[in-house]
Amino acid sequence: MIPGPFEYHRPGSVDEVIALLGEFGDDGRVIAGGHSLIPMMKLRLAVPDHVIDLRDVGGLDGISEDGGTIVIGAMVTQAEVLASDLLASKCPILAEAAALIADPQVRYLGTVGGNVANGDPGNDMPALMQCLDAAYVLKGPKGEREVAARGFYEAAYFTARGDDELLTSVRIPTPAAGHGSAYEKLKRKTGDYATAAAAAVLSMERGTCTAAAIALTNVADTPLYAEAAGAALVGSTLDEAAVAAAVEAAKAITAPASDLRGPAEYRTYVAGVMVRRAIERAEARATG
Ligand SMILES: Cc1cc2nc3c(=O)[nH]c(=O)nc-3n(C[C@H](O)[C@H](O)[C@H](O)COP(=O)(O)OP(=O)(O)OC[C@H]3O[C@@H](n4cnc5c(N)ncnc54)[C@H](O)[C@@H]3O)c2cc1C
Repeated sequence: MIPGPFEYHRPGSVDEVIALLGEFGDDGRVIAGGHSLIPMMKLRLAVPDHVIDLRDVGGLDGISEDGGTIVIGAMVTQAEVLASDLLASKCPILAEAAALIADPQVRYLGTVGGNVANGDPGNDMPALMQCLDAAYVLKGPKGEREVAARGFYEAAYFTARGDDELLTSVRIPTPAAGHGSAYEKLKRKTGDYATAAAAAVLSMERGTCTAAAIALTNVADTPLYAEAAGAALVGSTLDEAAVAAAVEAAKAITAPASDLRGPAEYRTYVAGVMVRRAIERAEARATG
C-alpha cells in the first residue's frame, strides 16, 4: 500500500508539462485529481519515476460554449460538472453521470481529463463522451491535435494519447435543443464502479426518432460506442420492436469479464437492461 519512490514536479504551464513529458517519456505521469493514479501507485500497478502535478498549470480549467461546441477544461472536477448551469441546460447527461461517480470526496478532486484519459473501462465519462461524439484535445511537442472519443480507447489503459501528450480539454458538439438523454448505471453500492452502465442521447420529431446514440460502460476492455443500437432506433417511433433491436445490438458487442460484479452473462444481461432504461428515460425527456 506504499507507492514506489518518485520525483515530484510542479510546473506552472502546459508548455512546461509537455517538456517534462518529452524528457521522461513512459517514466513520467501527470497527476490531476489523483483518485485513480494514487490507488494504482499504492498497489504498484503504476510505478512512475516522475509525477508531474497539474494543479498549478493554467488554462486547463473552465466550462464554456464556443459556437456550437461545449468546451470542458481537463482540470474541471466532477463536482464542477455537477454545479455547472451551462451543462445543466445544454448537456444534462454529464451531471447525471457525475452524480453516480464515487462519493463527494472523490468528485471534489477527480477531474474530467483524468477520467477520460485514464483508460480504465470502469470510468463513466468515456462512454458518455462517445455517446456525445466528443473530441479530446491533445497537446504535445509536435503541436495540438484532436482525437474523437469514439476512436481513442484501444484496450484497458491503452489509448491513442502519446506518452508526451497532455489532454488539455474535451470538446462536445452542443446536443440539439430538445434532445433527451439518460445515463443508467447499476452498481453494487455507493462508491462502486458499474456492473454495467449505458448512455443514451436521442432526438424526436413528431413522435419519430430522428437521431440516437448509445454507449456502454464497463462491459468490455474499453468503453463501447454501440453504433448499431443507435441506428436501430432512428426512423422508428421507439416502439417495442425498435427498442428490442437496439438492446440486442448493444448486447452483441459486449465482452465483459466475469468478476466480483458477476459472471459475464449476467453483466451482458444487465447492459441490456441499462440500455432499455436509458432509451425509455431519454425518450421521456425529449421534446418534439
Ligand atoms: C473510491 C473510488 C470510487 C470511484 N468510483 C468511480 C466510478 O464509479 N466511476 C468513475 O468514472 N470513476 C470512479 N473513480 C475514479 C475517479 O473518478 C477518478 O478521479 C478519475 O477516474 C480520474 O480522475 P483524476 O483527476 O483523479 O485522475 P488521476 O488519478 O490524477 O489520473 C488518472 C490517469 O489519467 C492521467 N491523466 C490525468 N489527467 C490527464 C491529462 N490532463 N492528460 C493526460 N493524462 C492525464 C494520469 O497520468 C493517470 O494515468 C473512483 C475513485 C475512487 C477513489
